Amino acid sequence: MSAGAYVVVMLAVIAVCTLVSVPPLFFRKCVRCGTRNFIEARNCRSCEAPLPYDSA
Ligand SMILES: [Zn+2]
Repeated sequence: MSAGAYVVVMLAVIAVCTLVSVPPLFFRKCVRCGTRNFIEARNCRSCEAPLPYDSA
């Protein structure tokens, strides 16, 4: 494997790690059942518990 390919692989790993860590910004985790809901959701799509709104 060439050094260039190694750099590409590392960048891909970093990109995946970033994407995995970003979802909290776009999803709202239900405090009752832990289901991730879209940020716009007012109620959990799984258990329909009201989702808290923190002013971010
Ligand atoms: Zn829920």
